[in-house]
Amino acid sequence: MPLTLASIRQAPKAVLHDHLDGGLRPGTVLDLAAQCGYDQLPAQDADALGNWFRDAADSGSLERYLETFAHTTAVMQTAEGLRRVARECALDLAEDGVVYAEVRFAPEQHLQRGLSLDEVVEHTLAGFRESEQLAAEAGTPIRVVCLLTAMRHAARSLEIAELTVRWRDRGVGGFDIAGAEAGYPPSRHLDAFEYMRANCAHFTIHAGEAFGLPSIHEAVAFCGCERLGHGVRITDDITDSESGPKLGLVANYVRDQRIPLELCPSSNVQTGAVPSLEKHPFDLLARLRFRVTVNTDNRLMSDTTMSREMLKLVDTFGYGWSDLERFTINAMKSAFIAFPERLRIIDEVIKPGYAVLLG
Ligand SMILES: [Zn+2]
Repeated sequence: MPLTLASIRQAPKAVLHDHLDGGLRPGTVLDLAAQCGYDQLPAQDADALGNWFRDAADSGSLERYLETFAHTTAVMQTAEGLRRVARECALDLAEDGVVYAEVRFAPEQHLQRGLSLDEVVEHTLAGFRESEQLAAEAGTPIRVVCLLTAMRHAARSLEIAELTVRWRDRGVGGFDIAGAEAGYPPSRHLDAFEYMRANCAHFTIHAGEAFGLPSIHEAVAFCGCERLGHGVRITDDITDSESGPKLGLVANYVRDQRIPLELCPSSNVQTGAVPSLEKHPFDLLARLRFRVTVNTDNRLMSDTTMSREMLKLVDTFGYGWSDLERFTINAMKSAFIAFPERLRIIDEVIKPGYAVLLG
């Protein structure tokens, strides 16, 4: 089967790094803004608004990129807003052939209209559960797990870590920190990570995106994260030598420990973490057998889907179905759900799905 957008959409896919507030449908942003009286949107029709998000995100600066979220989080401050955004997020992923998704967001950014942290999580999870039901009925089953993010410039990370543990087994799979990376090292939130470790709970850390190796070093060595959000700057610890690429201490550790890299090709280019898709180290890291995974990050800002991210990699690096299957299994092996369930999805959904496409 040739690799096209249509055929890749049929392939089972797993996404580990997708932001709830980065994946709204433009029309939903407009509807919810009208409902809650938010009048700061930069455009008034869905196409123009979609284009505005993409262009603002294309500026090449992480800080500018993050500004776009002021508009999406502004319309996600009510029970119905959160529920609808979560429901549509999972339905959109399912329609694209995603069978397993971890969707993250920062509850602390959704308290402006009086919801508590627990209510924010409750309504979001309700939206995900509704969409799992609807997707199964539509013949595109998806399993959705929510990750709770703390903002790295704020001081609520321990509280969000506690919220994560309180809601685990009810649809929350793990914890994360995100936001402007420079000046806010992961070790600033050490107490939150220690709390997670003490509770045998999962967490990932956005590191090595806007800032380099020291951030990755702290995330894996001090904080003990299980996965790296992006981690693309691990290449700062890989040098060329006559005998091929040479790995430093941190890069070796990340590879030896099989720490998954949640790579987000389009987003990494948009935020300036890498200069272009052609220069993205995805292929280098894949060839060096790091545990690479393909992710969307922010579907609205990057105007993308899992299938489009995979197609871009296929077009740029010449990957085939067996490569896409490997990246998908990498993601599924790294999922924040119980081991038997990971195995079940790999053996019963992913492998049979790719076997059909491989012929
Ligand atoms: Zn992210």
